[in-house]
Amino acid sequence: PSHPNFRFIPDLELRERAFHSYLGVPILNGRRILGVLVVQTTTPRDFRREDIALLNTVSSQIGAAVAPIFRRWDRQAEGKKDDASSGEGARIVRGRSLAPGCFQGSPYPMGGGMRLDTIFTPPSRGVEIENKAIRKATRKVIGNLAREARSVSGTEGRALLIAQTVLLQDQELGREVQGRIEDGASAAEAIRITALRGVRMLESHADPRFAARAMDFHDIAGRVLRALGIESTQTPPGKEKIVGISKVVFPGDLLRMGPEKVGAIINTDQGIHSHTVILARSFGIPAVQLPAADLEELRHARQLLVDGTEGIVVIDPSPEISDRFRTRAEETISLPDGGPSDLSGPVRTPDGIEVRVGLNAGLFSDFEQIESYGPDDIGLYRTEIAFMSRDTMPSLKVQTAHYRKVLEMGRGRRLTFRTFDFGGDKVPLSLKFESEENPMMGNRSTRYMLEHEDLFRKQLKALLTVSASGPMSILLPMISTAEELNLVLDIINSIKNDLDRTGVEFDRDLPVGVMLEVPSVLFIMDALSRSAEFFCVGSNDLVQYLMAADRSNPHVARLYQWHHPAVLAALDHLLKKCRSNGRPVTLCGEMAGNPWAAMLLVGMGYDHISVDSHSIPIIKWTLKQARGEMMKRLAEASIRASSSTEVIELFYGTLAELWRECAPLAKMLSSSLDRLRSDRLL
Ligand code: PEP
Ligand code: MG
Repeated sequence: PSHPNFRFIPDLELRERAFHSYLGVPILNGRRILGVLVVQTTTPRDFRREDIALLNTVSSQIGAAVAPIFRRWDRQAEGKKDDASSGEGARIVRGRSLAPGCFQGSPYPMGGGMRLDTIFTPPSRGVEIENKAIRKATRKVIGNLAREARSVSGTEGRALLIAQTVLLQDQELGREVQGRIEDGASAAEAIRITALRGVRMLESHADPRFAARAMDFHDIAGRVLRALGIESTQTPPGKEKIVGISKVVFPGDLLRMGPEKVGAIINTDQGIHSHTVILARSFGIPAVQLPAADLEELRHARQLLVDGTEGIVVIDPSPEISDRFRTRAEETISLPDGGPSDLSGPVRTPDGIEVRVGLNAGLFSDFEQIESYGPDDIGLYRTEIAFMSRDTMPSLKVQTAHYRKVLEMGRGRRLTFRTFDFGGDKVPLSLKFESEENPMMGNRSTRYMLEHEDLFRKQLKALLTVSASGPMSILLPMISTAEELNLVLDIINSIKNDLDRTGVEFDRDLPVGVMLEVPSVLFIMDALSRSAEFFCVGSNDLVQYLMAADRSNPHVARLYQWHHPAVLAALDHLLKKCRSNGRPVTLCGEMAGNPWAAMLLVGMGYDHISVDSHSIPIIKWTLKQARGEMMKRLAEASIRASSSTEVIELFYGTLAELWRECAPLAKMLSSSLDRLRSDRLL
């Protein structure tokens, strides 16, 4: 009451006069003030900076906890307003944020199977040609089905493939297709209409077992159509960008359509670490994952507003809602006030620890505005991305020209070319992969390349050929044994001999490194260090294999924890092994783009990380503010923790410290922590 600004409010309930001290902090969520958290004491008291920090931390936790209630109130209010103004209610569906940004457009089914009702088919070229085409396509599909049935190990999968073969040989259906061709339809159109009739008949059946068979019709028609040269996802007509929706969006489809056509992505079955989502972030395409039950409703919407930052989709939004979401998305993406003005050169923490932040690239567009991102090098160039959607594998000449152009685009920065990492969720159109029960642990990446030596030689020769044109290194993905590494090095040496004989200039000391992404490497670092010149931790894969949680599977996303003490201990061990063997190491998984993870890594001693272009400014900015000594304490405690929940608690403790020291950093980190929690990783 002795404070000059004290004002007495005559309300008996408040009993203001009884209090002799006051401390109030806002309860924030993003930039929105949701309330105020107040402490008052009846005995006079001077609040200390620690008290303020503590209250700020508590308030940021309350902010995250109550924000959903505010959102629900907003939705109710919007719904009422909408109903009143236009007679239509916008529906908001909450999902999981995969890639930030905001986009509004109409829905378009993208990949995940043929959409028979909208697929485009060519006109007939005459009965004879079409008959021949259908016979050839059917033979091909039956052959593929038989091959697949032989290689799948589960009986259910085999039964399904056999059932599909029987369906394809059904005489009545065959006659129906034949009749349509004779009536003037092309082979593709005849298949489409016949299958569509079957699908509709089965879908309308009361018995759910029949309805489920509709999928077989869909699938088998898709196979025949593909054999006839019809692509699985049509490029949508018109110039408008679309919101691609599907259970699964294939990376190849996204690459083929690109950001010129795809404004946003909604899926149900792909997690934050799937390659499609990594690509979406690279393209700047917002992406959200929704529960499967919501997908059908979305298909029939006229417009969808996708807020990838918050993980929200609004079905048929009013113009007011669109404006509000867009403004909010712009606000959250922007860097905190006082963000970095100069991003060039390695960052230095306030206590002088230097960290290099590289760029993860795979598209030419990743290099656009490279000077404004200011990466110190290109820590990872995923060579497979550019060739995913081609009909044929690129020749030596095409690859050489491509890699040379990439080197030019790096503008003198060291470029780490990772050799083809095909397989798993990255199956290119032009390569044959046997269907496998467990492709993520199957014949992928370097394993596949060693089996297809011609392909591998061509790529390695192209890389060696450009090696004299700029500073570069070669990086080998998915190495599980020292033998694999030595086999690749033998191939590289034999190519070097060939090049020598033909007088081609190349870098004789071209460094060859290994990706650390299979848990076996944890125990063979000494052996690997005898042959590899550098290492690069691929935490995206390492986390999935260590935690046995498929990086693309949303059902196990809560176990895919980069902040689990087991993962952190593995990262710490790898760093120590690299140090003791005198080998440089970098970490290029997506986690390094999260400011908390970057602080843990630098705290452990990593002095080189590589992240996607959009994360570079925020990571450089974070490391410029955070003291090395604080990060070290955080990392040491996190490695010793017994669960990721405990690690998150340690994050909150660090936050309390930071509110005192550097409020803008604390503010940014607190919203990033909210997101980590809302990603249901706990
Ligand atoms: C990784 O696994 O961390 C990695 C960088 O490679 P990719 O995401 O392409 O598998
Ligand atoms: Mg990997």
